[in-house]
Amino acid sequence: MEPISSLCVYCGSSAGRSPIYRAAAERLGRLLAENRIRLVFGGGRIGLMGILADSVIAAGGSAIGVIPRFLETREVGHQAVDKLYIVESMHERKKLMFDLSDAFAVLPGGFGTLDETFEVITWRQIKLHDKPIIMIDIDGYWRPFLDLAEQAIGQGFARPECRQLFTVVSDVDEVIPALRREHAPSVPDLTERM
Ligand code: AMP
Repeated sequence: MEPISSLCVYCGSSAGRSPIYRAAAERLGRLLAENRIRLVFGGGRIGLMGILADSVIAAGGSAIGVIPRFLETREVGHQAVDKLYIVESMHERKKLMFDLSDAFAVLPGGFGTLDETFEVITWRQIKLHDKPIIMIDIDGYWRPFLDLAEQAIGQGFARPECRQLFTVVSDVDEVIPALRREHAPSVPDLTERM
């Protein structure tokens, strides 16, 4: 399997109340740049999305944005990225972000972030893709999401294997190691046959 070269990050178009979210977005941006992993993001300059892209660019990394024409003003289309795709709809945005990315990571965000996250998780569930998905659980932000997933499994609306559709890390420093683990080619355990 090829190593991850581009990571789509879903995150808020707001920065959140706690400075811990902003710090996480900044650190993830630096880590992506240092590890030569290209950022694919929603193309805006606002909220965590903007902080993340600014951080990638400031650290000499590469970022590609995908923004619908009608949101270009509201979300302040980021002009400093390597490429800013202007698309006509939200569906086109999500499809292009998906196609450009080898894997997905999710920082805290609101309804838009949830929508994008559920979509890639459900697409993996029905085997439309097998790209890694990392939930970055900064300060327990995604705990209610994980509880909801457990509720769906516990009540028989999702299979227990659905737990494997995404990986949860508690710190941005764990994102790249988690991606490498998931993307590593599976080597057969020869010791079993000895
Ligand atoms: P939010 O988490 O609500 O701040 O939104 C994060 C990003 O998701 C923003 O750039 C939104 O424009 C985007 N977004 C919201 N809904 C959708 C959708 N249905 N498809 C694609 N992107 C969306």
